[in-house]
Amino acid sequence: VAKEAKAASKLPKPGELPASVAAMLRVPDGPVDLELLTTDRHPAGPRDKDHAAELMAELGEKMADLQERLYASAIGGGDKRRVLLVLQGMDTAGKDGVINHVVGLVDPGGVSLVSFKKPTEEELAHDFLWRIEKQVPRPGRLGVFNRSQYEDVLVVRVHDLVPESVWSARYAQINDFEQRLVDGHTTVVKCFLHVSKSEQSDRLLARLDDPTKYWKYNPGDVDERKYWDAYQQAYSAAIAHCNTDAAPWYVIPSDDKWYRNWAVAALLLESLESLNLRYPDADFDVEEEKRRVRDS
Ligand code: AMP
Ligand code: MG
Repeated sequence: VAKEAKAASKLPKPGELPASVAAMLRVPDGPVDLELLTTDRHPAGPRDKDHAAELMAELGEKMADLQERLYASAIGGGDKRRVLLVLQGMDTAGKDGVINHVVGLVDPGGVSLVSFKKPTEEELAHDFLWRIEKQVPRPGRLGVFNRSQYEDVLVVRVHDLVPESVWSARYAQINDFEQRLVDGHTTVVKCFLHVSKSEQSDRLLARLDDPTKYWKYNPGDVDERKYWDAYQQAYSAAIAHCNTDAAPWYVIPSDDKWYRNWAVAALLLESLESLNLRYPDADFDVEEEKRRVRDS
């Protein structure tokens, strides 16, 4: 009992910061029930929007510093490492919001951002990973996939765009692909931005209430709401089948935008910190170069 009490006292409470956001939001092994992983929970982290804003300023500075080191060590030191943030989620879940408010905290020069849309004729003529492989970030970059290889087991599965025998083989193909990325010095951070169906409805209505948001509104998104349960099942399967140690899945409670942004930022920062990034040494004689500059 004493041991249990001690373990419980170590668990952070809402409003307290967890020792590791990755450990807190990592999907456990085994079947995934997205209904149990509620969309409005705040297991630990900022207590409210203002607290989140404070924390984001700190996280942003640290992230920007480490991202510069990542870039510098590739440019100046031949380091092959890179980071890939994969963003998935239902319409309005906040993929664009995370890009704006989290990825936007670092130097855009070191970011490679790709949005995957409905495949073109040319892309459809190739294997589903063809267009993805071409967009893998180069050394030193923070790659961001706004949608990804997972669409080929999500929208494709929900709408029967290929036979089941084809999409069901893709989980293993995705795992192999991600293992290759990791073997090639890529840290893969996969985030499912988890919102409730009613939060999506609120966000769609908010878009319709604001003429400056009409451009974000897509009438087709309302038709997709009919397939909500099928999407949740497809997401559960994709997350469970592809939750590998090499490239684990994180489910981000996303009904509160401030919590979502903080969680992804904290997760990304932890990934960058785990790389122990250092600025590369000069590959020239610094004193000699100072003299040459002065004399020039
Ligand atoms: P958005 O991200 O809102 O601009 O929309 C992009 C659309 O492209 C979404 O409706 C996705 O479901 C769709 N899409 C992305 N990848 C695929 C894919 N591999 N197959 C079919 N549709 C896709
Ligand atoms: Mg959309």
